[in-house]
Amino acid sequence: MELKKIKGIGPVLEKKLNNLGINNLDDLLNYYPYKYNFINIVDINKAVEDESITIKGVVVDLPRVQYIKRNLNRLSFKVMSSDILINATIFNRAFLKANLTIGKEIVLIGKYNKLKASFVASDIKFNIINNSIEPVYHLQEGITNSAIIKIMAEALKYNRAIDLVPEEYIKEYSFISKIEALNLIHKPKSMEDISIASKRLKYEELFEFMFKINCLKRINNKAKGIKRDVDISSINNFMKELPFELTKDQITAIEDIYKDLVNQSRMNRLILGDVGSGKTIVATYAIYLNYLSGYQSALMAPTEILAEQHYKSLSSLLKKFNIKVELLTGSMKKSDKNKIVDRLANGDIDLLIGTHALISNNVSFKNLALVVTDEQHRFGVGQRNTLHDKGISPDVLYLSATPIPRTYALTIYGDLDISIIKTKPKGRKEIITKVFKEDKIKDVLYKMLEELKMGHQIYVVSPLIENNEENDMKSVLELKNKLSLAFQNKVEIAILHGKLKQNEKDKIMEDYKNGIIRILISTTVIEVGIDVPNSTMMVIFNSERFGLATLHQLRGRVGRNDLQSYCYLISNMEIERLKVLEESNDGFYISEKDFQLRGGGDLFGEKQSGLIPFKIANLKDDYKLLLQTKEDSNKYIESNKYLENDYYKELIKEISFIN
Ligand code: ADP
Ligand code: MG
Repeated sequence: MELKKIKGIGPVLEKKLNNLGINNLDDLLNYYPYKYNFINIVDINKAVEDESITIKGVVVDLPRVQYIKRNLNRLSFKVMSSDILINATIFNRAFLKANLTIGKEIVLIGKYNKLKASFVASDIKFNIINNSIEPVYHLQEGITNSAIIKIMAEALKYNRAIDLVPEEYIKEYSFISKIEALNLIHKPKSMEDISIASKRLKYEELFEFMFKINCLKRINNKAKGIKRDVDISSINNFMKELPFELTKDQITAIEDIYKDLVNQSRMNRLILGDVGSGKTIVATYAIYLNYLSGYQSALMAPTEILAEQHYKSLSSLLKKFNIKVELLTGSMKKSDKNKIVDRLANGDIDLLIGTHALISNNVSFKNLALVVTDEQHRFGVGQRNTLHDKGISPDVLYLSATPIPRTYALTIYGDLDISIIKTKPKGRKEIITKVFKEDKIKDVLYKMLEELKMGHQIYVVSPLIENNEENDMKSVLELKNKLSLAFQNKVEIAILHGKLKQNEKDKIMEDYKNGIIRILISTTVIEVGIDVPNSTMMVIFNSERFGLATLHQLRGRVGRNDLQSYCYLISNMEIERLKVLEESNDGFYISEKDFQLRGGGDLFGEKQSGLIPFKIANLKDDYKLLLQTKEDSNKYIESNKYLENDYYKELIKEISFIN
């Protein structure tokens, strides 16, 4: 059902909901709260300094609004609570002014300072029932939590929900129905409601997921691929031409690939390896072997910068083998593109490198038989469809630098064969990592200066650039100015951010690679795969904002040659968590720790960007449930019971079709 039909959703709100990935009634109902507030109103006399409390009061004076800065305003008003007159303030709620009429009863959540009789509210509520539970949703600018609560209540009235747990499992586990679970998760009356509902919704989410994984695995096992006729000595020939010796794990991965490619069944392999472990060379072997058998390959990277980088390193590596490599990017001239497209169709190109848009673009290969996709982008249904529409079902090799614990990998990547690269190339020094509080910035600057003097380059990462807001831009510019000042304008500093045009970004990267720019201030854009070996220092501001795995990825941008490299994490918070990175350079260990530490506060755990596709389940707490659903869904497929379930019948058709 369309969102517009739900009471309270107009075109403006609809657009905003779309931005949250909510496009219909079902999406909306499946948009679960990530935590809950327990409303417990207390007497203001019971307030404890610096602790948040919830009080009731009556507005006794008209509120005033002060506009302090763009993006910052303050609403102040007087409230009577338990015979105490307090001065209440709340930031960025100027829009509430009209609602705060004299005599109005309100509930305030915030901190009370008895001496000043002031109350700094973090939230103001109207019509709140004491001892109730309020769901809290991940929001987007322009949508308030109470707006979501309101429309959710309307949406629930339709009493419609798609239940994805097959009947036999609802019976087996005595689950409540989906719609009951939705009512409880969005409008709980007790902790128990939440726990009953979330268990059932988690099961559903994991069941569907594991159903897909199990199907894919089965289909892949049956899928016929190309049986290549190449001698195993190709491995030795390949290694002979390399400028370095392969590590043990690299060789094992290459052997795995050899077996896959000379076998009749189709390759569907994931190379899981820490940053800098040398996955590219392993993929290069696959491309080489594919070439020897007379087929074309494609290599897809998540960004143009990375695609270009791959193009440069691979074309020089593959020249020795006479492999013709080309790059195709969106920013190329049309005439150049056309030339490449023609040559590709003629079979005049052996390896085409580009972004993930590559296969969806209007390009057709003569005989594509291998697709390598860099950095964890699995094919979405759409992409697989595109390949299928082109009448090809190539061997696929995924490269991922997100080292997740093996047990998890086997589950969520359960449809793929996995080669793990743990050993690091010889001669690599451990990156020295240190956590600094902000007031120790001088030490950081001093170290930066030392590195610059040695001719090295530095990455500076600031999460502030992410939001793309003017205000945030200011703080990044400020950062640049401060650094310029600190280094007396003697070093070239550049900022790389999302608002720049592609050619501007490219220019900056080019200048950084060539050492013209010495300090590169950036968002996490550089997280994925950039390789500039002369960079020996990574400085990350507000590092508490990142997960350990992300920080580890960022750190992997340095330490790319035999120079000693450093990673300085600047933060005033979560020092303990950050110290895990001081202890270890092992991505697998760090991801294990990350899984252990994650969760805690948030009821359903924080959203791990991209890695885990779950809305309500989290692998740490729900691993057992995941294994259970893996087993259940497998049985479900084996028993052919899914043939009686329209949803799964369709799903399996879709999956088989695109394979
Ligand atoms: P990642 O696994 O992060 O993609 P890359 O494939 O980009 O890592 O490799 C990082 C760097 O290490 C590259 O410059 C690559 O040439 C180099 N490299 C890869 N394997 C080895 C090896 N066995 N010995 C020495 N250097 C290597
Ligand atoms: Mg890489």
